[in-house]
Amino acid sequence: MSKFMMDRLNALQAYVPGEQPQDKTYVKLNTNECPFPPSPYATRLARQAAGSLNLYCDPECGVLASVAAETFGVSKEQMIFTNGSDEVLDFAFLAFCGESCPALFPDITYGFYPVFASLHGVPYREIPLNEDLCVDITPYLSLKGTLFLANPNAPTGVALGRAEIEKLLQARPDSILVVDEAYVDFGGESALPLIEKYDNLLVTRTFSKSRSLAGGRLGIGFACPALIADLKKVKYSVNPYNVNSMTAAAGVGALLDQEYFAKNVAVIQENRAYVTAALKERGFTVLPSSANFIFAKSPDITGETLYKKLKEKGVLVRYFAKERIKAYVRITIGTKEQSDVLISKIDEIAEESK
Ligand code: PMP
Repeated sequence: MSKFMMDRLNALQAYVPGEQPQDKTYVKLNTNECPFPPSPYATRLARQAAGSLNLYCDPECGVLASVAAETFGVSKEQMIFTNGSDEVLDFAFLAFCGESCPALFPDITYGFYPVFASLHGVPYREIPLNEDLCVDITPYLSLKGTLFLANPNAPTGVALGRAEIEKLLQARPDSILVVDEAYVDFGGESALPLIEKYDNLLVTRTFSKSRSLAGGRLGIGFACPALIADLKKVKYSVNPYNVNSMTAAAGVGALLDQEYFAKNVAVIQENRAYVTAALKERGFTVLPSSANFIFAKSPDITGETLYKKLKEKGVLVRYFAKERIKAYVRITIGTKEQSDVLISKIDEIAEESK
């Protein structure tokens, strides 16, 4: 760090993204990407858009907004487009949290939440998941502050139902609830219809997982027009051109090719059931996942050892050095072929440690 960095940022622990190794080809099951390429329609539209890169992009993403409004059954005033859903979360921490309004989230959840809070000097409180690593909404019902819930949660994959989300909205009418639905397409129950009814709900979605556009960086925030106006005020004060024209065009293609999207989601769900069953047969504990990853614990070795041994064998998974979850690894669900490699390497590791 240089001597010029402001003191208030000295203690900031930046987010550590999952490994993106460039040196070797791994079976890459560590960052919850989709193993399938973007829809060919998405890449075609992105290529066309590349021809106009001399011009600034449309800050309102007009074409994308029309298609998304149709796809999700909302109005343009109920949406904001961002550079990945990380950016809409960042805007939410900036717009809706502060000294008098702390951020609340579970102790085991998306690791970016405490980073955003620290970056913006927002006090935060982490509420423990229950014993079986699920969210119990009870403690939140009486707490004031902006609540961030990843649903399905990460890295556990466990989802809350819409009825529980609605209970939280009703019990806390003067506090905002942000439901981060990065993984909802893989089996969660979306809170999106509730934005019509509640003015304290922000739902965030991403094109990085089920729509195969992680490298494109595209997210959406859905809420009532007043909350969206607040978030846009932040966007227009940070970077009006936050979604580049190629990405916006790819987003249009990804939304219009619903068939491709539905097919890929179905394959991932099928492979999730396949990997879960295989690991359970081998004595693993696997949490019930509604996401494109599973959170699994070996009967014999720690999460760190399993992560390291799999990496030596060319398979990347994610391990978290947090006390409550250090026995687990998070495994992204890939293709059937990738799943078979994973299972065979787990068998080799078991064989070698006999
Ligand atoms: N929320 C959760 C729970 C995530 O796991 C991720 C992916 N790391 C994100 C949001 C952000 O994804 P993106 O910025 O690619 O949309």
